[in-house]
Amino acid sequence: MNHNVVILGSGPAGMSAAKALVAQGIHPTVIDENGKSGGQIYRQQPDNFTRTKKQLYGFDAKEAEQTLDEWQAIQPHVTYLPHHLVWNAAGNTLYLFDQQRPKYKELHWDSLIIANGATDRILPFSGWTLPGIYTLGAAQIALKNQGCVIGSEIVLAGNGPLLYLLAWQYLKAGANLKAILDYSGFMDQCKATTKLLHAPKVVYKGVYFLTELKRAGVKIVYNARLDSANGDKKVTGIHWHKEGESKASHYIECDSIAFGYGLRSETQIPDLLGCEFYYHEQYRDWLPKLDNQQTTVPGLYLAGDGSGIAGVYAAKLSGEKAANQILSSLNLPVSEHASSAIDKRLGHYTTFSYGLTKAFPFPTTWAANVSDDTVICRCENVTAGDIRATVHNKGAEEMNQLKAHCRSGMGRCQGRVCSTAIHELLAYETNKPIDAVGRIRSQSPLKPIPIIVEEELADEHH
Ligand SMILES: Cc1cc2nc3c(=O)[nH]c(=O)nc-3n(C[C@H](O)[C@H](O)[C@H](O)COP(=O)(O)OP(=O)(O)OC[C@H]3O[C@@H](n4cnc5c(N)ncnc54)[C@H](O)[C@@H]3O)c2cc1C
Repeated sequence: MNHNVVILGSGPAGMSAAKALVAQGIHPTVIDENGKSGGQIYRQQPDNFTRTKKQLYGFDAKEAEQTLDEWQAIQPHVTYLPHHLVWNAAGNTLYLFDQQRPKYKELHWDSLIIANGATDRILPFSGWTLPGIYTLGAAQIALKNQGCVIGSEIVLAGNGPLLYLLAWQYLKAGANLKAILDYSGFMDQCKATTKLLHAPKVVYKGVYFLTELKRAGVKIVYNARLDSANGDKKVTGIHWHKEGESKASHYIECDSIAFGYGLRSETQIPDLLGCEFYYHEQYRDWLPKLDNQQTTVPGLYLAGDGSGIAGVYAAKLSGEKAANQILSSLNLPVSEHASSAIDKRLGHYTTFSYGLTKAFPFPTTWAANVSDDTVICRCENVTAGDIRATVHNKGAEEMNQLKAHCRSGMGRCQGRVCSTAIHELLAYETNKPIDAVGRIRSQSPLKPIPIIVEEELADEHH
C-alpha cells in the first residue's frame, strides 16, 4: 500500500501504535531522537551496562520486558529511525536531524501519529538555576540511564507521582535522601482516593512507596513551599516553609535538589502543524482538540502523554486507538469489540488522571509568591521581576506580546521549560483568567540543532 504511516516517538504509545498497525499489514516508519526505544518509563540503558530489568524497572519489569520484546518482534515490519530528532514540521513533512551521521532529512507522511510524550512541569524558585538542582525527571534519567544519583545529600521537592516513585528508586539505589518536601497536603491525596481507585494497581504501588520511605525514616513534609536555594558555585541548601508559616522558616543543608510539579504534554509539533487547541481545566494546560485521538488536521493523530498526562497504560491504549483510527480510514478491519474495550479502559485511566490532579494539586498560589529575583526563562535570563515590569510598564497582556517585549520563552528551550510559569505569572499580574492570556506560538527549531544542519539546509536551497 502506497500510504506512508509515520509514528513520532517509540515510547509505550508509539510502540503500541506500531504493533497494532503491523498486525494489519501496515509498515510504519517510527522516529525517535533517543538511540533506543522505550520512552521514559521503559528507558533502556547503554549497551555496556548490565543491570537486570528488575533493577531497572522495579515493579514494571515484567511489562517492560514484554513491551520491549513485542517491539523487537515487529522490527522486520517497521522502518525504525532512532537517533533522529524531529526539529520542525510543516504540511505533510517532518524535518529530521540524524544525530549519528549527522545529516538533515525530510520525511513525508500521509498519516502521522505523534506520541512524543511529556516533560517535567517547572515552577521556579529563587536560585533554582544553581548547579546541583535538577528536575525530578532528569534525576530519574541519571539513575535509569547512567546508574548514578544526583548527589550525596539530596532533597526531593514539588509534587506528583514521580516525586514518590523517584524517592523510592533513589532509596533502593542507596541514595541519602535528606527530605521529601511535598507541595500537596496529605488530605489532598486521601480525598482523591475515589478517582484514583480507577487504577488500583497504580495506587497500590504509591502506597507501597510511601510505606517503604516512611519505614526507612525518610523525612516527608506535606504542604511544603520552596523559597530559595542557597549556594555560590553550587547549591548548598534550601530555604522553605510550610503553608501558613512565614517564608524561609526552615533550612536544609544539601548538595543537590530535584523538583517538579507533575508533567506537561509536549505539543509543539501539533502546534506547528496547525492543530486547534483548547484549554484543559484539569490538566491546566493548552492541548490540541481531539476526537478519538484525531486532531483537527486530517490524518494527524496524537497518543500518549502528548495528548494529556494519564500514564503508561493510557499511553498504550491511546496508541492502539490512534492506530485503529488509521486502519479504519484505510478500510482495514478493526474489531468493534476491541475498540469499545479500549474506550472503557481509557475512561478509567482518564478518571484516574483527574484524581492525580486532585491528589497533587497545581500550585495556584505560586505566581503571587514568586520573588522578583527568580529566573523564570533561564535561556534568556528573564526574571519574575522583568515579567512583572513588562506587564505593568509596557502593558503586555498576552503570551506572545510579552515574549516580544522581554524575550520570555524565546531561547533554546522554546518555552518547553518556562511556558507554564510565564503563563501563570502573566495571568496573575494581568488579573485575567488563566485561559485568557494565550499561549506561546511554537517556532522551529524545536530543540537546538548543530550548525551543520543549517549549512546543509542552505546548500539544499542554493
Ligand atoms: C522524565 C520522565 C520520567 C518518567 N518516568 C516514569 C516512570 O518511571 N514510571 C511511570 O509510570 N511513568 C513515568 N513517566 C511518565 C511517562 O511519561 C509515561 O508513563 C509513559 O512513558 C508515556 O509514554 P509515551 O509513549 O506517551 O511517551 P514517552 O515515554 O515520553 O515517549 C516519547 C518518545 O518520543 C521521543 N521524542 C519526543 N520528542 C521527539 C522529537 N522532537 N523527535 C524525536 N523523538 C522525540 C522521546 O525520545 C521518547 O522516546 C515519566 C515521564 C517523564 C517526563
